[in-house]
Amino acid sequence: MSCGKKEKKQEEGFTYQKVKDESTEVFNEQDGVVTIIISGNDQMQFDKSEIKVPSGKTVKLTLRHNGKMGANVMGHNFVLLKQGVNVAGFGRKAASARDNQFIPKDSENDVIAYTKVIGGGETTTITFKTPKAGSYDYICSFPGHYALMKGKFIVE
Ligand code: ZN
Repeated sequence: MSCGKKEKKQEEGFTYQKVKDESTEVFNEQDGVVTIIISGNDQMQFDKSEIKVPSGKTVKLTLRHNGKMGANVMGHNFVLLKQGVNVAGFGRKAASARDNQFIPKDSENDVIAYTKVIGGGETTTITFKTPKAGSYDYICSFPGHYALMKGKFIVE
């Protein structure tokens, strides 16, 4: 009996079994919460162009700005758009929404989740439920960034 108990304890120790090693599956899942870390830099780039998550989970997404430039000149956010939203159209409108974290007030229904805008050295975290299975666009909506800072958020 004591032997069986010991085995179970060992199994419980391996909580990182579910970490995927494929480069596109960049999450760590524990207790139904999927943790994602995405970084931006001073070269106007995200470090990921595709994020895959399972459906029916809670996503805890951390955005890091690995650069040195301030939020006023090289600000980054993470904006997850609903399906069917025109990325370029949203990006153009967002450019004039500086007072609302570059989320156009009349387009808030186009957005599933977004972080605030951060500058070099800063980090911000949001939590949201994964939308239904499918492919979604994410962008940085800081003026002029959406053309380069974009990717696919895939719910499987
Ligand atoms: Zn940006």
